[in-house]
Amino acid sequence: MTSTGTTSTTEVWHVVQWSGGIGSWATAQRVAAAHGTDRMILLFADVLVEHPDLYRFSRQAAARLGLGVTRVCDGRTPFELFSDVRFLGNNRIAPCSRILKQLPARRWLEAELPPDRTVLYVGIDSFEKHRAPAIAKGWRPWRVEFPLLQRPHLTKDDMLAWATSLRLRPPALYVPPYNLRHNNCGGFCVRAGIRQWTRMLTVDPDGFAEAEAAEARMRDQLGDVAILRDRRDGRSRPLPLAELRHRTTA
Ligand code: SF4
Repeated sequence: MTSTGTTSTTEVWHVVQWSGGIGSWATAQRVAAAHGTDRMILLFADVLVEHPDLYRFSRQAAARLGLGVTRVCDGRTPFELFSDVRFLGNNRIAPCSRILKQLPARRWLEAELPPDRTVLYVGIDSFEKHRAPAIAKGWRPWRVEFPLLQRPHLTKDDMLAWATSLRLRPPALYVPPYNLRHNNCGGFCVRAGIRQWTRMLTVDPDGFAEAEAAEARMRDQLGDVAILRDRRDGRSRPLPLAELRHRTTA
């Protein structure tokens, strides 16, 4: 972990939850505009399976702000965690988000920055406004602000165009051939739905095959579990990635 050094009692640290996504980038831009970057920290929880271009974007975007990235890491990938806790993450329950992202970031905050002299910034946008109260509650006693809930509201496309206008190439997962709405876990987020996983099968068959094999190992351990659920015909049942691949390529 990176030490922030000693602070005077009047200093406030501005900590952006930096994910490598365009929302956290736009958040950092607004925080920098409001407070400068002298006491700004980009806090990144690495889950070790991000798309390589996320790291390129993160590095370049941080450098534009004159900052480095403060990285924390549990040391496990999502599938390694699922195996350890004997639970396969899915779009209803995703322990990876809490254990691999929130907890390492929280441990860093506890070690480095007092809540009364720290503000956290989370990059949810106006379309995700409903999530703000729970996020703020989850980070107590640190205070959380959501700069993207301030006007003017920006869509993801607005933010991508903003980055492009500053000659910053947006992360690969937002543009063709991926065209995803989120830049996380290389596109293989357990919270994503059938549509995204089907797209990933097409654009990154090797990555899909790895996820499929990892899910199959979890099924050997735990029985009939799956990341996805099939809700056709008015019933809900696990939809293994292997079945999705067969269905898609048949
Ligand atoms: S992006 Fe998805 S798979 Fe990755 S840690 Fe977050 S919830 Fe888990």
